[in-house]
Amino acid sequence: DNSATTAVRPEVLEAMLPYLSEQYGNPSSIYGLGQAAHQAVEEARGQVAKAIGAAESEIVFTACGTESDNWAIRGVAFANQNRGKHIITSAIEHHAVLHTCKQLEKEGFSITYLPVDETGLVSPDDLKAAITDETILVTIMMANNEIGTIEPIRELCAIAHESGVLFHTDAVQAVGHIPVNVEELGVDLLSLSGHKFHAPKGIGALYIRKGTRIGTFMQGGAQERNRRAGTENVAGIVALGKAITLAVEELPETSERLTQLRDRTIKGILDRVPYARLNGHREKRLPGSLNIGFEFIEGESILLLLVMKGIAASSGSACTSGSLDPSHVLLAIGLPHEKAHGSVRLSYSRYTTEEDVDYIIETLPPIIERLRAMSPL
Ligand code: PLP
Repeated sequence: DNSATTAVRPEVLEAMLPYLSEQYGNPSSIYGLGQAAHQAVEEARGQVAKAIGAAESEIVFTACGTESDNWAIRGVAFANQNRGKHIITSAIEHHAVLHTCKQLEKEGFSITYLPVDETGLVSPDDLKAAITDETILVTIMMANNEIGTIEPIRELCAIAHESGVLFHTDAVQAVGHIPVNVEELGVDLLSLSGHKFHAPKGIGALYIRKGTRIGTFMQGGAQERNRRAGTENVAGIVALGKAITLAVEELPETSERLTQLRDRTIKGILDRVPYARLNGHREKRLPGSLNIGFEFIEGESILLLLVMKGIAASSGSACTSGSLDPSHVLLAIGLPHEKAHGSVRLSYSRYTTEEDVDYIIETLPPIIERLRAMSPL
C-alpha cells in the first residue's frame, strides 16, 4: 500500500536527523545556529527545484500535499475573482482538491467537474468545451491515487493557456514515480508531498510559476519570502530535498523494475481469477500501482483476508473510513456500485521484491475463490 505512504529511506533519515538534534536553529534567527538551518532549507529548495525543472524562487514548502492543493486553488480563486469565478476540475481528483472546490461553491464560485472515460482519462475536448470567459483556473491531477491513470497534463495545460486560464496539477502521486518537469508540462502550479517518495509525512511543496497571481493561505510571519507563514519544518524540508533527489536520480531504473513487477502481478492475477478486470488505463499508469476489480465480492473482505496473510492493500471503497459509499473514482470510470465495491489497489515501492509479487500472486486467487464460495451473488 505504498500509494498511501512510504517508508522513510535510511539516507533520508540520516540527512534530516541533525536538524532534529544539534542543528535545531530557527531559519529566521541571525546567529550561527539559525543561519545553518536557513542554509539547509535553501539547499533543499534548490534540490526540489532541480528535480522538477523549476527555479528555486518558485518553490514554497508546505505542511503536506493537502495544504499545497488548498493553497493553489483557494489562493488563485480569491486573487483572480475580479476576472471570473469559474474553476474546472475533474471528477476523479483527490478529496484535497474536490472538497476545496466544494467549499468554494459555497463561497460563490462555480465549478465544473469534468467526466473521465472508462480508463480514467480526462478528454481535452471536454476541457476545451468547458472553458468560458469566467474561467480562472483548471486543476487536474497528474496521476490518480486509486487507479494510477496518468492524465495528459501537457495537452490539457496548453488548452487552458490558449484561453489565458491558469493551470494547477496535483502531482502528489506522480513526483518521484514518473518524470515531472514543470517547463515541459507548462503548468503554473504543482503540488507535491514527501511521504509518497520516502520522505516523512507532514512535508510538501507548492511550485508557483513566477508571475502567477495567487494570494497567501497562512497568515503570520514573513517566512518563505512572505508567501507561507510559519516556522519552517527544517528537518522535513531537508528530508524532502534528499528524497526527491534520490527518487529522480533512480527513477529510470526504479520505474522499469516496478513496471515489470506491476505487469507480472496484473497478468498473474487475471490469468488465475475469472470475472476480474484491471481498473484504470492499461499503459498510461503509474509504474508501481494496480487496481483490480473482482466481481461478486466485497473489497473490504478481500482486504481483511489479505491482512491475515500479511499483505497491506487498500480497497476502492471508503468503508474503512466509516462510509459505505463506493469510491468516487471507480464510479466516475463507469463501474456500477457492486463492481466498485469489489476492487483492490496494490501499490509498490523501491522496497517491493520479486518474492513479494510471487507471494501476492499465490495468495490472492485462493482468497477470491474462498470469498466467492460464500457470496450470495
Ligand atoms: N493528492 C493526492 C493525489 C494524494 O494521493 C494525496 C495523498 O494521498 C494527497 C493529495 C494528499 O497529500 P498529503 O497526504 O500529503 O496531505
